Amino acid sequence: MQIEPGETIAYLGLGSNEGDRAAALEQALVALERTPGVRLLRRSTWVETELVGDGPAQGTFLNGVAELATRLAPVALLAICKELERAAGRTLPAARNHPRPLDLDVLAHGSVTIDSRELTVPHREWHRREFVTAPLAELGVDTATWRRWEPPQVLGTAAGLAALTTNWRTGGCSIGLVPTMGALHAGHRSLIDRARRECDRVAVTIFVNPLQFGAGEDLAAYPRGLERDVALCREAGADAVFTPSPEAMYDPGFASRIRVGHAASGMEGAERPEHFEGVATVVAKLLAIARPDRAYFGEKDAQQLAVIRRLVRDLGFPVTVVPCAIVREADGLAMSSRNIYLDAADRVASTVLCRALRRVDAAFVAGERDHGTLVQLARDEIATEPRGVIDYVELRSETDLTELPAGAIAADVAAAGVRMLVAVRFARGPRPVRLLDNLRLGAGCAGDAGADVGAGSDSAAAGTDA
Ligand code: AMP
Repeated sequence: MQIEPGETIAYLGLGSNEGDRAAALEQALVALERTPGVRLLRRSTWVETELVGDGPAQGTFLNGVAELATRLAPVALLAICKELERAAGRTLPAARNHPRPLDLDVLAHGSVTIDSRELTVPHREWHRREFVTAPLAELGVDTATWRRWEPPQVLGTAAGLAALTTNWRTGGCSIGLVPTMGALHAGHRSLIDRARRECDRVAVTIFVNPLQFGAGEDLAAYPRGLERDVALCREAGADAVFTPSPEAMYDPGFASRIRVGHAASGMEGAERPEHFEGVATVVAKLLAIARPDRAYFGEKDAQQLAVIRRLVRDLGFPVTVVPCAIVREADGLAMSSRNIYLDAADRVASTVLCRALRRVDAAFVAGERDHGTLVQLARDEIATEPRGVIDYVELRSETDLTELPAGAIAADVAAAGVRMLVAVRFARGPRPVRLLDNLRLGAGCAGDAGADVGAGSDSAAAGTDA
């Protein structure tokens, strides 16, 4: 194999399943040979293959690979490929998995690794596609050193996550961050799914943050299951999982805390005095490490969401906070990692939270606007379940969860949105459990959490409850 100075060996994947397939592939090779800075060294034979993945009914493909010596950088080679695809009659950007007269992929380019918005090299799927590996094997290409992308990358250090996200950002990728404490369930999954839809790259953090647990709380007993969690992240298409040890997040000299004022007082803040300081500190640190464009939080923890919105606004983190609707069990219980602590009788009783919220919601929709009456309705409903002991029932403004005055809710306040938040303690099982739930009144049960605006801000209008 003759390589001249300045040249790199690169491999292209070629495919066609529309029109005169063989002619399209041969013409592409001729065009490549005529391209300045590209020399065709070898090519495989064409193999007949079926479409991989979903797509409309369509003909089979002819596929193969070409080995080039090129002076072109990977992006320049990609640009040539796109040009040839267009010349062959392909409309770009192309619909996924639709028939195409010509499809050219940069499979590898020397030993370079690229993970950018427009290009992943080696190709993200090369090792999973027989129509690529078989033609490479026919040419005897040694692919042992080619990177195999097996997302998610699991990272344990802040430096590792920062390096990865910096690389993504440099490559023009938007980044979504989903902070969690693990023991992932469908609620977490909905956050990851949304991030996947909205961002080029998604990092999930799994960290049971000691700073947000008070003395005597369930830090040691908090459910953990990293292997299962990573599998869920993989299935959801997350690119990275950040799972640091407490020591990796907080070195022995760690001495900083972030205290968010009003949003963190009352409700959970009253019940768990240092909780939100721990939450704000860890979220600020995660935002600083990963520098995401968008960060996803559940309305399930509505006060936490309010604290984080305040934190982001106050400290100017250039991130959009995305609120995500509550995901519930079929019987209405809001999903939570701690639900596994409920014994069978408490599990049955636990649906009283959502029943109470729905009863209040129905009254609100019917026109009830008296603050005290709405709160009492919830209290009465919860009182029908003797296993549950109320910690609080609160009616708050939707915008920032500030308290509402007694008496009638003003029309403009009601129009801007009000949210009822409840916490109920179930203490008869082997381990006491506090359940939280909340609902924006009058918003209906369908729909997704609200849209949001640009970086550095977030929508005040959270969405409806699912
Ligand atoms: P956690 O692991 O409990 O700290 O939760 C991580 C994130 O997932 C937080 O933003 C939670 O609000 C969110 N989350 C937890 N449970 C649910 C749920 N049932 N529906 C939607 N989001 C949730």
